[in-house]
Amino acid sequence: MAEELEHALQQVKAAGYKMTPQRKLILDYLINHETHPTAEMIYQDLQQQDEQISLATVYNTLEMLLGTQLVLAIDSDQDGKRHYDYFGHPHYHAICTNCGRIVDGENFDFSQLPNTAANETGYLITGYEATVKGLCPECQRKLENQK
Ligand SMILES: [Zn+2]
Ligand SMILES: [Zn+2]
Repeated sequence: MAEELEHALQQVKAAGYKMTPQRKLILDYLINHETHPTAEMIYQDLQQQDEQISLATVYNTLEMLLGTQLVLAIDSDQDGKRHYDYFGHPHYHAICTNCGRIVDGENFDFSQLPNTAANETGYLITGYEATVKGLCPECQRKLENQK
């Protein structure tokens, strides 16, 4: 999805951040993985493409991307780790309370949320996130079989 990367790169630039080849690699990885990876997972995968990349670079880049609002951090209660997600398009997350699996949900209309929240609270809204919790289909099946 080269178009998405172009779009994201423009937003990073507009936010005043410098883009380096490694930062681009990390952003591209997040755009193309809907797995909600941890920094360690990103580092391990990208090391195979770029031996020079360090875990510190991955962390620094993720911090920078969080600042642009293009990337969202999800702190999982299940594994106690921080997961990262490309958030160029609004979506919600469903988190399994049993295994911690995080999936994206797209078909929900968020367009009213920022305006409604601004009117109601007087906040200057700069971002939002939505999460639902429950049992994933696999865990539902597993738990059902244990009965
Ligand atoms: Zn589950
Ligand atoms: Zn997501």
